[in-house]
Amino acid sequence: MQFYNSLSRRKEAFTPIEPGHVRMYTCGPTVYHFAHIGNFRAYTFEDLLRRVLIFNGCRVTQVMNVTDVDDKTIRGAAAAGVPLKTFTAPFVQAFYDDLNALNIQPAERYPAATDHVSEMIALVQRLFDKGLAYQSDDGSVYFSVSKLPGYGKLAHLDRENLRMGARVANDEYEKESYGDFALWKAYEASDGDVVWDSPWGRGRPGWHLECSAMAMTYLGDTFDIHTGGIDNLFPHHENEIAQTEGATGKPFVNLWMHCAHLRVNGEKMSKSLGNFFTLRDLLEKGYTGREIRYVLINGHYRQSLNFTFDALDAARNSLARIDECVDALREHSSKVLNCESSKVPSEAAPDGADAHNFRTLELQNFRTAFTDAVNDDLNIPEAFAALFALVRESNSALHRGELSPEEAAAVLTLFDEMDTVLGVIRFRRDAGDDAIPAEITALVAARTSARAAKNWAESDRLRDELAAKGWEVRDSKEGQKVKAIGNHS
Ligand code: AMP
Ligand code: ZN
Repeated sequence: MQFYNSLSRRKEAFTPIEPGHVRMYTCGPTVYHFAHIGNFRAYTFEDLLRRVLIFNGCRVTQVMNVTDVDDKTIRGAAAAGVPLKTFTAPFVQAFYDDLNALNIQPAERYPAATDHVSEMIALVQRLFDKGLAYQSDDGSVYFSVSKLPGYGKLAHLDRENLRMGARVANDEYEKESYGDFALWKAYEASDGDVVWDSPWGRGRPGWHLECSAMAMTYLGDTFDIHTGGIDNLFPHHENEIAQTEGATGKPFVNLWMHCAHLRVNGEKMSKSLGNFFTLRDLLEKGYTGREIRYVLINGHYRQSLNFTFDALDAARNSLARIDECVDALREHSSKVLNCESSKVPSEAAPDGADAHNFRTLELQNFRTAFTDAVNDDLNIPEAFAALFALVRESNSALHRGELSPEEAAAVLTLFDEMDTVLGVIRFRRDAGDDAIPAEITALVAARTSARAAKNWAESDRLRDELAAKGWEVRDSKEGQKVKAIGNHS
């Protein structure tokens, strides 16, 4: 595996510190709103990374924090006139629901910042002991950027030419205004009841401190991978490095990975610009989690991705092509079980055995193309190209009657393998789409009776009713076949 490291600005071969076990930290949501699909571009990228590591046989310990106290959550709680926890709790739950709707594998841990304030205070104390922190007149504690020689190495901050500004109290700021940043913020009336005691007086942690403390608590002083969206690179990740390396004197993270933004009309999708869609907005418009996942992963993570409804519609078509192929292969491979195989079993016929070996070899080529793509810095567009080449090849082999049921089963196994990374093929079944609801079965049964009684008007009415509920019915020699229109997650 090789990945692009934001620290060195090049692709590097990846080997975990502990053989076979990857420790990674991903910056999680700030729970002051429903996450928008720009945020989910970052979480699906991290999900792909996690799945590729597992695909390569690694065990993964992934920690994703939940930022439930910062400038934005405090402002939100104050505006809503409720305690902080009351304000954030529904957004935390919604976040887990959304991850599930997008088939994002859960991380091993989701620590909440408010549960780790004592670890944060201990970290500030270590920085004081090293002479890297000081308390300002306003009571807040700052990190002394000029005392850390390597400050700016991740963002490639031009410290020669950028004049260091005054202290910055805000969590987010531009490179041009870099300066000493807040570790601990002294209490202000606008913080309401969001307050903790510390050796430096009452106050609350800064956002950057939260991630350093939680990462060190669960992953140790040095670990393998740290990820986030590109906007996290500066100042958030730069400041995490400063805090942790300043305290431990050891390297914090070996590999830093950042995804580019999801954009709308050329601008970053963001809450502050108001040009965002939440997952819920899109689900309400009738798109499925599966279609949205497809759009979010189908681009290289280091290139910005433009969000359009056309892309969602195209995803629906692409997924239908995969589904049709998978359905046909399933039907064909089931002939093995039913002993309907038209081919002579391969062990009885040397020619058949040769043909089978040839196919197996070809499948190996598809597997290699797929593996090379995902292992080369998560080249998912290339991986999809391998998948669709396999779809085309299987369809035409099926069409020509050249695929044995055993071969169809082998192709399905390869699709399953690819899907451990992509998470879009079996997702349909995982979402329960293959299960036909009792209500639909009852309507189909009623339609069977109507047709038996040659009551065509009633039969047509029931067909329309099924369609209105999202189910397409087809009449065949074996009777009615019912299929979900699009997807029903
Ligand atoms: P936040 O909740 O603002 O802390 O952001 C959560 C994650 O989403 C971070 O990793 C951000 O970098 C990422 N993010 C925010 N907006 C976008 C976007 N438009 N495209 C991709 N990632 C984003
Ligand atoms: Zn973070």
